Amino acid sequence: MKKTSLPDLSKYKPAVPHPDIREACGICGVFNNREASNLVYLGLTALQHRGQESAGIVSFNGKMNRHVGMGLVFDVFKNREYFNFLKGRSAIGHVRYSTTGSSDIKNAQPLLVTTPYGQIAVAHNGNLTNADVLKSKLEAAGAIFQTTTDSEIILHLIAHSKAKNLPDAIISTLKKVDGAYSLLFASDTDSKGKKANTMIAVRDPMGFRPLVLGKLNKSWVVASETCVFDLVGAKTVREVMPGEMLIIEDGKIIERRITDKPAKHSSMCVFEFIYFSRPDSKIFGESVYEVRRELGRQLAREAPAPGADCVIAVPDSAVVAAIGYAEASKLPFEIGFIRSHYVGRTFIEPSVPMRDFRAKVKYNPIKENLHGKSIVLIDDSIVRGTTSQKLIRMLKAAGVREIHLRISSPPIIDSCYYGIDTPTREELIASTHSVEEIREFLGVTSLSYLSIDGMLRSSKQGVSDFCTACFSGKYPTKIERKAREKK
Ligand code: SF4
Repeated sequence: MKKTSLPDLSKYKPAVPHPDIREACGICGVFNNREASNLVYLGLTALQHRGQESAGIVSFNGKMNRHVGMGLVFDVFKNREYFNFLKGRSAIGHVRYSTTGSSDIKNAQPLLVTTPYGQIAVAHNGNLTNADVLKSKLEAAGAIFQTTTDSEIILHLIAHSKAKNLPDAIISTLKKVDGAYSLLFASDTDSKGKKANTMIAVRDPMGFRPLVLGKLNKSWVVASETCVFDLVGAKTVREVMPGEMLIIEDGKIIERRITDKPAKHSSMCVFEFIYFSRPDSKIFGESVYEVRRELGRQLAREAPAPGADCVIAVPDSAVVAAIGYAEASKLPFEIGFIRSHYVGRTFIEPSVPMRDFRAKVKYNPIKENLHGKSIVLIDDSIVRGTTSQKLIRMLKAAGVREIHLRISSPPIIDSCYYGIDTPTREELIASTHSVEEIREFLGVTSLSYLSIDGMLRSSKQGVSDFCTACFSGKYPTKIERKAREKK
C-alpha cells in the first residue's frame, strides 16, 4: 500500500455548522415595502446557514443607510434601534463566510460606495476567478481598495465605466469578470438616471449560485433560497435565470441579458442540493428535499448493505438522504445521534485532555438504538475525513457491531473556486487516498460513495447543466489555481 500522510488531528478549529466545508454567502432584498429592513433581517435569519461570519443590511430611502457587523444575524441586529436608522421602503442584506478576503469587519457586506452613478450598495454570493488580475490592473490605474473582497472589484469597475447609466455600467463590468456571482445592487438612481430607488438582481451566465424572485403583495423580494419567501410570506415568482439582470424600479421590472449570447449550458452548483441549501427551499427550479431524498435512494440502489439492521444519518444535513436510502433499501430509519444546536462559533475547547471533545460537544449517540447493531451510516460528504473518524469512534464506543458508511455524493477530489470555502486539494482525503485507504483510515466495515452519474440523475435538470468540478476536476471556466491557494 502506498505511504499516506493523513490529516493532523491535533489541529483544533472553532465549531461551525459543517466543520470542513463552509458556506460562502446568502443574499436577500426587499423592494417597495415599509417594513423593508425588518423583512430583510428576517430573510437573513433564514439564510444564516449560508454564512455565519458577518451580516449586514443597507436600506434606501433616497439616502442609503448601512449597518454591518461580525457574527450571527441575531447578534449583529440585537439592538432594535438599528431599525430606526435603517429607514426606507427598500433594503438589501447579506450573510457572509469569507472565500476571498479575510474575516474582518471591513469585508462585511453589503458594501456601499458613491460613484458617478450615485450611491451603490452591493451584496455578492459567489467568487470571481480572475479577481487577482483585475485587482492588479485597477491598482495600477490608481484604484485604492478599502476591503480585501473580490466584490469590491465589481464596484471599482462600475465606477470606471463610461456607460450612460448604471445597468449598462454593470453589464460592461460583468463582461470583464469570470466566475460565480449572484448579485443584488441597491441604487438611488433609476435606469434613466433619475433619482429613484432601484434594486438590481443579476446571476452569472453559468448560474453557479441560486437566486430567486418572489412577490409579497405589491413588494418584490429576491433571495438566495425560497425559504426566505416562506418566512416573510412571499410567493415564488421564478428563478433569476443564468445571465439575466432584473432591474426593479418603481412599478416595473425590466429584464435584460448580461451576455450577447446565452451560455450553451449552465453550471449550477450540484453541492447546493447535496449539502448547502436548506431542504425546505426550492432552488434551480427543484425541491432540495426531493433531490436530496433521491440522492439517498440512488445510493441505496448503487451501494446496498445486505444484512444491516437500520439506517442512521449524520445530523442534520444527511437526514434527508438517509430517509431516501432507508426507503429504497427497505431498512428502518433510526435516530443515531442527537446534535446540539447550541454550540456556537465562539465555543472554546476546554483545556482538559479529552479525545474528540469537539465532536462530543456537538453529537451524542443514542446507545439504545445502536448497541450490538449493524448500521448503515449516511453522510453527505467526506472532506478531510477527521470529522467522520471522530463520529465513527463515538459509534464504536456506543457498541455498534458493524458500520457500513455510505456517502450521498462522489469523493471530493478538488477545491471549489466558485464561492464555497473548501480546503485545498492536498487537504482533501479523497484526492490523495483510494476508497479502500479511506475505509481503513476511518475504521468502518465498508465504504461506498454515490457515483457522479447517479448524483446527476437525482435531479430533473439536464446532467450537463451542473458544475461537478470538486468531484471530477473538470472546471467549467478557466481557473487561476494559484490565485486561490495563496489567499
Ligand atoms: Fe459546487 Fe463543487 Fe462546482 Fe464548487 S466546484 S460550484 S462546490 S460543484
